Amino acid sequence: MYVISTNQMLRQAQRGRYAVPAFNIHNLETMQVVVETAARLHAPVIIAGTPGTFAYAGTENLIALTRAMARHFSHPLAIHLDHHAGYDDIAQKVCQGVRSVMIDASSLAYDQNVAVVKKVVTFCHYHDVSVEAELGQLGGQEDDLSVNSEDALYTSPSQAGDFVLATGIDSLAVAIGTAHGMYTAPPALDFGRLDAIRDRVSVPLVLHGASGLPSGAIHKAIKSGICKINVATELKNAFSSSLKRYLQDNPQSTDPRDYLQPAKLAMKEVVEKVIADCGCEGKAYARSPSI
Ligand SMILES: [Zn+2]
Repeated sequence: MYVISTNQMLRQAQRGRYAVPAFNIHNLETMQVVVETAARLHAPVIIAGTPGTFAYAGTENLIALTRAMARHFSHPLAIHLDHHAGYDDIAQKVCQGVRSVMIDASSLAYDQNVAVVKKVVTFCHYHDVSVEAELGQLGGQEDDLSVNSEDALYTSPSQAGDFVLATGIDSLAVAIGTAHGMYTAPPALDFGRLDAIRDRVSVPLVLHGASGLPSGAIHKAIKSGICKINVATELKNAFSSSLKRYLQDNPQSTDPRDYLQPAKLAMKEVVEKVIADCGCEGKAYARSPSI
């Protein structure tokens, strides 16, 4: 109950000209902060996990936590497979209850990318699961996925139009100059390319590598059709730097219920900032108290 696909969420964002944030979570505490903050702000939110995260935390555990939190807050949640590449792995997680998938075959040649994505779309649509795919490649590192900046490839607008038609995907992740990880200098995003992609593609567009992007760049990207913003590193950095600081200042602390509190507060600030940048506060469906 209440674990949903991202189809309606992203279509509504597209119509309303805002974006839905997808936060990469790693443990109970990151999930608590993301869901509590989103529910308090009535903001739609996507819980995302890479294959490494699902292996670390356990797929059944993450789905059960998502269900429990969605029910507790009466706040529908999507749990999303971020950068998944294996058909069998995806199919298994869908059967376990996931309703939102990213198939990342972007490192393959175009024709192979299309073939792999089509196969996943056929399976997922039969199971009422939304599918995101990527065309082009972001530089940087996310879990086991590492792409040198010289191998990063921007999305071709004309190919994007063909790709969406050929695969039947529900959303498209674009490469327009963002990278995974934190930026050492503000990236120069190719907004002209994004507009050209928007002109050829009707499905919601997704921006990966949004950690540390200036608010102005996020607003501009949303104006040009971005409907989903992925944030991973910013949350991890807030968690770890706050935790390190606290343990340095309080070396006698041994209770995770104490020493994780400042880390949770630091992550809450990040989640609030990203929700504000996405313009999605108050956009979640609010259940009438009488129902
Ligand atoms: Zn990504």
